[in-house]
Formats: sequence, structure tokens, C-alpha cells
Amino acid sequence: MQETSRDQKTAAPSEHRLSARVYGPVPSRRLGRSLGVDLVPFKTCSYDCVYCQLGPTTKLTAERAPFFPVQGLLHEVIARAKASKPDFITLAGSGEPTLYSGLGELVEGIKAATDIPIALLTNGALFKEEQIRRDAALCDLVIPSLDAGDEEFFQWVNRPVNGLTLEEVTEGLVLFRESYRKPIWLEVMVIQGMTEQPKRLREIAKRAKRFKPDKIQLNTPIRPSSRDFVFPLGLERLEQLCSFFEPRAEVIAEPPRPVKRAPVAPDEAAPVLEMLWRRPCTLEDICAGLGTSAPGTLKVLEALVREGKARGLFRQGRYFFDAARGEPKGQVP
Ligand code: SF4
Repeated sequence: MQETSRDQKTAAPSEHRLSARVYGPVPSRRLGRSLGVDLVPFKTCSYDCVYCQLGPTTKLTAERAPFFPVQGLLHEVIARAKASKPDFITLAGSGEPTLYSGLGELVEGIKAATDIPIALLTNGALFKEEQIRRDAALCDLVIPSLDAGDEEFFQWVNRPVNGLTLEEVTEGLVLFRESYRKPIWLEVMVIQGMTEQPKRLREIAKRAKRFKPDKIQLNTPIRPSSRDFVFPLGLERLEQLCSFFEPRAEVIAEPPRPVKRAPVAPDEAAPVLEMLWRRPCTLEDICAGLGTSAPGTLKVLEALVREGKARGLFRQGRYFFDAARGEPKGQVP
């Protein structure tokens, strides 16, 4: 919370623009001030998770591709990193970042220019591929996810690309651990009434033991997904579930209550609000309309909802944002 205020006071003007690929620094509970880099087009992923806050996967694939020229992206990341001095440069995306075939070259380029640590947020689905393990190993911290311990639940919760099995995913993570000596923090998304069943949690914990993560972190889908049957757990209940894991898990979900934060920067908020005043939009509509990255745009939308300037609503199974026309201040949806 304080770090956000400090960011807002000291930020260079360039930090406050929404970009197609680089966003932030944004305050991250795990990573401090995190400069995000979006490595894939909206929404390209090897999974189509039921809880995904970005909406349904439109390109479900296991094929890597050179979505953008590395040099242009590298130039922007380095310039933004030098101007804003984040605690971490975080490789993530509007989907799965390891699908970007320029990943290794990009990380090497960043490392040659700055000593800011690099974190990779990944679903961990494709670590059986040697080149993906090599690229990921260049990062200083890898945060994969594992949401299921058995095949049936894996297919339900992550809805992977055709043919991908949980055993392949696990074997990939085991292979990665064998050669990667830097930290692996495993994230487990816990869905109310589904993942929280003791048998399921035990199976996830057993599978996680095979690749020995340094930390296990429990999250819950507090942000809305496009599926209205997915609900978060209360934080107290999440705390209770930590003891299923070894090492004992920690909770990283943000509290579902309004938090006092610095207001969203006007030059980020204005174009988004302008669109919402015309009509309700999905996250994808806004990103397409403004040419901005989904994770960065989502942060702005969440801030607008917190400030009571926008609201979230489900319509025909899709999640929209709308300008709040005089409604009382809402919580982050
Ligand atoms: S892996 Fe991440 S981006 Fe892909 S569908 Fe799941 S939550 Fe969304």
C-alpha cells in the first residue's frame, strides 16, 4: 500500500502510460514494485483455466512463436527499467509467456543491460520442452502454477491444449528442478467447493513434492473470471489449508476489501473511462481499442472500480466493465 503511494509520487511521467507490452511498475505482494512485460498476444495460452481473469483463451496452443521482434521489446523494457528501478522485472502476459520464442534472447538482453532480477510467471505446462527449460532457467525466480493433483480435475480446471496431460506437466517441472538452483515458488489456485476438498489438496501436495518448490503459495480467484460458477475462498479458510502442503504454504491472495491506495494516474484512467462512458466493454475490448496490454489494463480497471468510477458486471456469461454513473463506491469485483 505504502509502496504504491511512493511509486505515484516519484514516478517518471513515462511510468504512467499504458503500453502494449510493458506496464508498471505495479505493487505486487510477492515481488515489490514489479515492472510487467506482456509476452504474448491476447489471449494466447496452453491452458483455458476456468478461473482466468483475462477471459476465455482465444488461441489455445502449445506452439511457440516469435510474436514480436525481440529488439524493440528489449529496448522498451530496458528504458522503462532504468527509469523506474523496479524490484523485479516480471515476465507474464495476456496468456502464457513461455509461448514467446524470443524469451531466452529477451532475458539475456535484459541481463546484459541491468542487474534487476527477473521473475517468470508461468503455468508451467510446457517445461518438458528443453528449450523452454533453458529459457526459464535464465530467470532469477520462476513461479509456476499447479492447480490439480489428478488428471480429471486438471482437465476440468486448466482445460489444457489437446493431448497435454498432468503427468507430462509434472515431469517437465521435475526436469526443470533437477538443473535449476534458483528459487521456484509454486502457486496453487484454490476454488471454493472444488480444490478445497482434502483429497484434492493432498493430491496436489503430493505432486508438488516431486519437484520440490522452495515456496508454495495459495491464491483464490478473487478477481472475476468469465465463468460465473467459480468462487473464491475466504482468507481464513485459505490459511487453514496451508498445512496440507510441505513446505507449509502461505496465502498470497489479496484481501477482498477496499484498500487505500494512491489514485490511478489520470493519463492512464482517461482513455479507459472514455471507452466505458460510450458502452460497457470487456477487458479484451479495451485492450483491442487502446492497443494496451491486458495485465496493465486490468490494474487500471481495478483501480477505477476501487475509486467508484467503474463497475464490473456479468452479461450473458461474459464479464464487462462499465462507467459508474453515480452508483456508490464498489469493491474490487
Ligand atoms: S494459464 Fe494463466 S493466462 Fe492461461 S488460462 Fe490459465 S490463468 Fe489464464
